[in-house]
Amino acid sequence: MTTAETFTYNGGKVDPGERQNLRYGISETYLGDPVRIPVTIINGERPGPTVFLSAAAHGDELNGIEVVREVAHEWDLSDLAGTLVCLPVMNVPGFLAQQRYLPIYDRDLNRSFPGREDSTSAKRMAARIFDNFVAPCDFGIDFHTSTRGRTNMLHVRADMSDDAVARLAKAYGSNVIIDSEGSDGVLRTEATRVGIPTVTVEMGEAHRFQRGLIDDALEGVQSVFSEYELLETSAVRWPGWRTVIDDANEKTWIRADAGGIVDMHHERGSLVREGERICTLTNPFKDDNVSVEAPFTGLLVGVLENPVVYPGNPLCHLVELEPKVRRVVEREQTNRTE
Ligand SMILES: [Zn+2]
Repeated sequence: MTTAETFTYNGGKVDPGERQNLRYGISETYLGDPVRIPVTIINGERPGPTVFLSAAAHGDELNGIEVVREVAHEWDLSDLAGTLVCLPVMNVPGFLAQQRYLPIYDRDLNRSFPGREDSTSAKRMAARIFDNFVAPCDFGIDFHTSTRGRTNMLHVRADMSDDAVARLAKAYGSNVIIDSEGSDGVLRTEATRVGIPTVTVEMGEAHRFQRGLIDDALEGVQSVFSEYELLETSAVRWPGWRTVIDDANEKTWIRADAGGIVDMHHERGSLVREGERICTLTNPFKDDNVSVEAPFTGLLVGVLENPVVYPGNPLCHLVELEPKVRRVVEREQTNRTE
């Protein structure tokens, strides 16, 4: 039988059966003080995969922080088979400023992976995180929310052409999986490229703890742990229906063609029919309204929350569903409203 292995990072180690809370230096401030990220490593007594759970690569995306903290500090992990590397706040400068980007030249930490030690400040930070805490892992989940002012239904983003990533994405058990390779520099993309299957979980809005979404996300983590036998928990979850959105599905970010104040008529996760009004753009006098209609029947994966737009600003993210799934969603949503 294989035995559990010691987890090592530059500057320390965590033996099987041990847990460690540490603050790891990834940069320095203008005053020369360390910029340190919180890290919790839990090494189970039993052998198993090494998994990272990360959040707040964008500093104002908070829901995932709570997901990662609850797994690390509230779950019973005494029987864990494998190692968890928990990174609840990766973008510490952005988190302190409560903004998406690193305050230094507004760099996007989540376009800076895998990073480089001799490059920009963002890439140096990314490298410290990637080399020490991502590279030793077998797979990982990175938690995000929608960009400020918008909200998403919980969904997984994954490169479904990679079998190992597809297994992870399906194990998470969300209704919606958006299939894409992802941009260069994104944590899930770069980790996957070096053989660490990684998915992004998107949920809700920035600047909030949204309890319902956090609970849903935690169930997804439990389902993944079940699939990979990290914990003997309940079975892998089946969400009732699932759609994998790829190039075959019609999908669009509907953008405002007029500036105005937006009256949104649907919530995230709603099914809207072709021609149905999604929202109304109004002026201050409410006398020149512009109706925005669904160009095709689909699911509102993301919608505007902050109800103001310039022409060109996104209003909602609409994705087409295959007919079989559409009928299930229709039934579910009719039952909910009755
Ligand atoms: Zn994000």
